[in-house]
Amino acid sequence: LEEQLRQAQKMEAVGQMAGGIAHDFNNILTAIIGYTSMLISQARDGDPAKELAQRVLRAADRAAGLTRSLLAFSRKQKMEMKPVDLNEILKNQEHLLRRLIGEDILLRTEPATEPLIVRVDAGQIEQVILNLVTNARDAMPHGGLLSLTAHAATLEAPPAGAVGCPSLEGPCVLLCVSDSGAGMDGTTLERIFDPFFTTKAVGKGTGLGLAIVHGIVQQHGGLIRVYSHPGIGTTFKIYLPRLDSGVLVPESGEELLARGGT
Ligand code: ADP
Repeated sequence: LEEQLRQAQKMEAVGQMAGGIAHDFNNILTAIIGYTSMLISQARDGDPAKELAQRVLRAADRAAGLTRSLLAFSRKQKMEMKPVDLNEILKNQEHLLRRLIGEDILLRTEPATEPLIVRVDAGQIEQVILNLVTNARDAMPHGGLLSLTAHAATLEAPPAGAVGCPSLEGPCVLLCVSDSGAGMDGTTLERIFDPFFTTKAVGKGTGLGLAIVHGIVQQHGGLIRVYSHPGIGTTFKIYLPRLDSGVLVPESGEELLARGGT
């Protein structure tokens, strides 16, 4: 519990600072991008200055992407909580996700067998899925298998090692994002939810993706459990409180253990 409190305080402090900086930066970048675009449109083809201006624009676009992530991370966005079927969210996102992962990664989804009603801010849950799928893609640079499934489950007690809301019990929706990628060792796993922790190259990772996921799941009263093995792959399990009492698939401790490890 102390660890969770420490994490929450750290997120709060970093979030406030990052949000302030990101906001000012965003205004500056808007000017840079605007004027550079004007330069590019006025320069003649073959003018070396045009090529340079295009480089400035690409760099500024990258910076704008980073400030967007920072704002998403820091902003206490007003949540619009509504009952929705998670199956619908997944179905709506499938096209986007396929485009995101490219052709070398095989996406496996499971057709829904039951309604998975959760009270959520759909946009934020989409963000969670997007961040997890982006990480899965990055963990499989040479292709692989990505499985994205959701089903109903009943939690007797929070799974050991889970982060988020420790009091979650009872009917849940379980969202699983599983990849056959690089996996993580114990030292990495310990830090993945820390804001700005990244193992990705400069310009590729912000270290905010999972901090955002953590914040959103926590705000929804949910839990996250991560299973990962170097060289084999990673599974993120997100538990969210379920509204209806649909079909219950009890999740035994055995199944959790069978998935193994850290
Ligand atoms: P970023 O993606 O910008 O690095 P994240 O917070 O999303 O930031 O992730 C932090 C780190 O966690 C990543 O740099 C990577 O080392 C590790 N990670 C996250 N998801 C996975 C995954 N599916 N497979 C392997 N490593 C992962």
